[in-house]
Amino acid sequence: MHYISTRGGAPALNFEEVTLTGLGSDGGLYVPRDWPVFSPDEIAGLAGLPYAVLAARIMQPFVGDSLSPERLQELCTQAYARFAHRAVTPLVQLDERHWLLELFHGPTLAFKDVALQLLGRLFEEFLARREDHLTIVGATSGDTGSAAIDAVAGRAKIDIFMLHPKGRISDVQRRQMTTVKAPNVFNIAIDGSFDEAQAMVKRMFGDPALTATLRIGAVNSINWARLMAQVVYYFAAALQLGAPHRRVAFAVPTGNFGDVFAGYVAARMGLPVERLIVATNVNDILHRALSTGDYSVGAVTATAAPSMDIQVSSNFERLLFDCGGRDGAALAQQMRGFEASKAMRLTNAQSRGAAALLSSARADAGEMAGAMNWAWEQCGELIDPHTAIGLHAARAADLPAGVPIVTLATAHPAKFRSAVERATGHRPSLPTRIGDLFDREERYVELPGDYAAVAAYVAQHAAHR
Ligand SMILES: *Cc1c(COP(=O)(O)O)cnc(C)c1O
Repeated sequence: MHYISTRGGAPALNFEEVTLTGLGSDGGLYVPRDWPVFSPDEIAGLAGLPYAVLAARIMQPFVGDSLSPERLQELCTQAYARFAHRAVTPLVQLDERHWLLELFHGPTLAFKDVALQLLGRLFEEFLARREDHLTIVGATSGDTGSAAIDAVAGRAKIDIFMLHPKGRISDVQRRQMTTVKAPNVFNIAIDGSFDEAQAMVKRMFGDPALTATLRIGAVNSINWARLMAQVVYYFAAALQLGAPHRRVAFAVPTGNFGDVFAGYVAARMGLPVERLIVATNVNDILHRALSTGDYSVGAVTATAAPSMDIQVSSNFERLLFDCGGRDGAALAQQMRGFEASKAMRLTNAQSRGAAALLSSARADAGEMAGAMNWAWEQCGELIDPHTAIGLHAARAADLPAGVPIVTLATAHPAKFRSAVERATGHRPSLPTRIGDLFDREERYVELPGDYAAVAAYVAQHAAHR
């Protein structure tokens, strides 16, 4: 399998190379040159498999000859053994129509574990073959940081530097990162906002003072391998609900458009997806783009669902590329215009292509709390604020009778205890597997919101290992 850039100007890569590379050298994102397609009979043959076996089957065509089928299976088995539920991503029924797909049974209680537990193992596998060392730099508003740190802590040939905005993430989120003791983990609290931390990380990727001596790697969802791993649970859920004989719809709480793009890939691979519902909070650029064609950046409003407080959704570019005729040169021009003016209109082909499978909805604070309340009062399920935005969109959707709607439950309610308690009057308890989080010792450095200081810290600590 070969991967090409959405902007048409970067070299094609194989799976091993695309995993170790973040952004394309032309600023684009990598996508498979062709979509592998499973026939209805092949899909029917996947029913009832253990999750890790299903995962290896779905991912093999994307991995190509970068890993043998046996080795891919071993890595999947190891990655998904870290989950607390034997089904890995269990389905829970809410009523005759609505289901929750629980993606939060991994070590750090959010769906990002599903992909990052595998990605950490892929990094280690591919680096072992090379005279190479990977320096991961990332910025987190909470969930990506802890999932990435858990996935790479203690692994050979990898260092991870994770920036978080000091005082602006929850205690649970911070402690999940700062109580990890492995010597290759460096937590940095930055004086400043998430956007400022993110801007520093982007600058490091292009800073010759760092890139001359370090291979800098990415763990956010611009990394193709993350999206690939997320395709699996769309298959797992649809198979449970009767695919390929029955069509299934999904409602997806969306920030950077990674999770919902994985659902789009599943549909392109032949899974009978009736509809993908893109659910946003009041930071609704994606809802506006999909409903009116207007993709223009507004100010970010802080909400109780911080992982969705995003205005520019990196992975949307992958959708525009695929729906708009896969014309890299035209998309490069469109994206240059967007980067200059912070606004663009979708082309007719892009809007039509997206509308064939995707619709969208937006939830404000009251609607989000209403969905948490409905799930608790009517169904006895505590759900987190992100999941609630998805469930609100699912319940508002206009779909043919008989189509089950699966809402992706992206975080454990205990990760956002105060918001859940405010909406339901009930405070979720932390699962026992992370129960002593508040007794563990924390370790992190505090640095000023100054690029030179942060870059110097990274250079010094990555180089001296
Ligand atoms: C990251 C995250 C999201 C958004 O996912 P994207 O792939 O960025 O669209 C939603 N919910 C939670 C809990 C998250 O951590």
